[in-house]
Amino acid sequence: VFDQQLLHSLIRAIPNWPEPGVTFRDITPLFQSPKGTEMIINTLAERYRERDITHIGALDARGFLVGSPLACKLGLPLVIFRKPGKLPYDVIREEYALEYGSAALEVHTDALKKGDRLLLADDLIATGGTLCAAAKLCRRLGAEPVEATAIIDLPALGGSKRLDSEGIPSFSLCSY
Ligand code: 5GP
Repeated sequence: VFDQQLLHSLIRAIPNWPEPGVTFRDITPLFQSPKGTEMIINTLAERYRERDITHIGALDARGFLVGSPLACKLGLPLVIFRKPGKLPYDVIREEYALEYGSAALEVHTDALKKGDRLLLADDLIATGGTLCAAAKLCRRLGAEPVEATAIIDLPALGGSKRLDSEGIPSFSLCSY
């Protein structure tokens, strides 16, 4: 069963990291706990079983920690979305704005095809820019991002609203 208190106890707040004024939500204690890890993966597996999803998409890098065990548990193929220059085969790239500067994600052109239906997984939703970029890559390959999931949502930063406005519902296990 899902235990919200256990989850909160396994997420560590790091003040002023990576820069002054930011509180970083550190999920490493969660993945150091087999019980906590099993709980979140089982909870997500229950939610997404029999939802007509064909692929799990996992976002570089902490999204891999969620997406990979979930794909394995659901018996679905895993598609990885990576930071530029990491994927060795033909890629498409989507750039997106950060508070300062920009970032990008890439996916292999043969990872998805028309009609595929993805659940996108990351560790945390802040502004939603990262998940939106992955969703755009899906759509460029003809696939549909059905939903986005994360361990943590930071609703004050507007990411889940932004995803919603792009036609992508999101589901997070906790929020701050
Ligand atoms: P967004 O694109 O939604 O603004 O930012 C989300 C991305 O930034 C995610 O890929 C996530 O890994 C990373 N991120 C931003 N802030 C935090 C944080 O406080 N904790 C963790 N674990 N990741 C964060």
